[in-house]
Amino acid sequence: MIEEKVGFCTLCKSRCGTINVVENGWLKKVVPNPDHPTGKAMCLKGRSAPEVVHNSRRLTAPLRRTTPKSDPDPQWVEISWGEALDETADRLKGHVAKGGSESVAFAVTSGSSSPLSDSADWILRLIRGFGSPNLCYAAEICTWHKDYAHAFTFGSGIPAADYSNSELILLWGHNPSNVWLAQAEAIAAAQTRGAKLAVIDPRRTPFAGRADHWLRVRPGTDAALAMGLARELIERAAFDGDFVRDWTNAPFLVRSDNGKFLRSRDLLHDDMAQREQDYLVWDDATKGLLPAALKQKSAALSASHVVATKTGNVLCRTAFDLYRDAVAPFDPDTVERLTGVAPTTFAAFAQALGSAKKISYHTWTGTGQHRNATQTERAIATLYALIGSFDVRGGNVQITLLPTPVLHSMALKPQEQRAKALGLADRPLGPPLNGWITSTDLYDAIIDRRPYGVEALVTFGTNLLVSHPAPGRCKQALQDLDLYVHFDLSTIRPRIMPISCFPSQRPGNTRRFG
Ligand code: SF4
Repeated sequence: MIEEKVGFCTLCKSRCGTINVVENGWLKKVVPNPDHPTGKAMCLKGRSAPEVVHNSRRLTAPLRRTTPKSDPDPQWVEISWGEALDETADRLKGHVAKGGSESVAFAVTSGSSSPLSDSADWILRLIRGFGSPNLCYAAEICTWHKDYAHAFTFGSGIPAADYSNSELILLWGHNPSNVWLAQAEAIAAAQTRGAKLAVIDPRRTPFAGRADHWLRVRPGTDAALAMGLARELIERAAFDGDFVRDWTNAPFLVRSDNGKFLRSRDLLHDDMAQREQDYLVWDDATKGLLPAALKQKSAALSASHVVATKTGNVLCRTAFDLYRDAVAPFDPDTVERLTGVAPTTFAAFAQALGSAKKISYHTWTGTGQHRNATQTERAIATLYALIGSFDVRGGNVQITLLPTPVLHSMALKPQEQRAKALGLADRPLGPPLNGWITSTDLYDAIIDRRPYGVEALVTFGTNLLVSHPAPGRCKQALQDLDLYVHFDLSTIRPRIMPISCFPSQRPGNTRRFG
């Protein structure tokens, strides 16, 4: 019997709508479902799902290694699920009793490029409920910049691009044709509708080939380009002044003596004592200071005043003026020298950026896989704030999510455990704040027991050796572990349990499609 089952591909975050052709219980073919919002096309990976589901190398039962990890032949033996789960639970309990739950670390692969996204909520629930502060995430070299560094500017990760309603679409180090088919479809449709497209990428990606602006930036110099574009917009007064004044901290005054924002509590004559936490702006209408929360259209974007504070007279300038100073060195010639982008190409794109009213963008691995990714992302996010398309139709929109049960609240993890996250002391505002640690810190804890020892590791789908830096340290760390449990589709690790795979739905399923 041949059946057509409607579903969607979970092999990456595009989640393309699919029709799964099943013959006598076996998956034969997966094809796009044009009736689905993201079902216009599928990539080769999604179409190959039957090969994954029915692959002879796919794990169908837990395996236990029977030789030491130094032995190249693991000598796997099949064990039952009961044995695997009981033994793993007992060993983990032993480690918690001996070294606390921080002595057990977890690692997960990226949901953006694997079937993990539909399981991630439950895995996070397990980790947070377990109490381990240490989760090593494969996205440390490709996503943290856009999710965390953007939050330093926006208060959130990069919001969703509303390509369908954009005048100008900007792809910055992002190739959706390869990594996000649903986005590629939306961008192509927007171009057909008349939207302009700009691509910043050293490679001639499919979209670069049909872009209105293609800036072939030298790899790793994107921040200089963003700073240069910001300079150009400010010089030509082509930025959205109302948005910048009303929705950003650009008019806030900054003390020149310590670089901190001026607060009401700093003032020598504090007639705003009831608002002592307030940031302050300079109000051009009253020629005086005003709490930022009460600022009007007359709040100055550019101002420089000496203010009497409790620590003496201090020159204060607006954050906007300091930003203008920071971008000033990045004139078109300097940008060309640093980035390789010719002044004519640069000027044409700056003109487009300054004149379009609805601009959406996405940036990903092209900017993220560099040592300066955090500052690059801050430069791009600040440039975008100048444009004023944040959270407007046709820009990047903060989507209100449908209410769903919270499966993995941080409240599941005691505060004293959160404080033990590896790397938190070095990066108190970074990912360790939410329990995401780097592989470098993980290896230090396993090999050198620095700042404390990690002796057990549970990994879901991730292959630390090839997806993280320092494979030599990784190999050493994996060998030094007392317990290593891995969940995957196929056999590559010491103690392994199978996982389900799109489109089979039952955890640990056999290869039969149901
Ligand atoms: S782009 Fe490919 S892997 Fe990703 S959801 Fe679509 S078909 Fe699946």
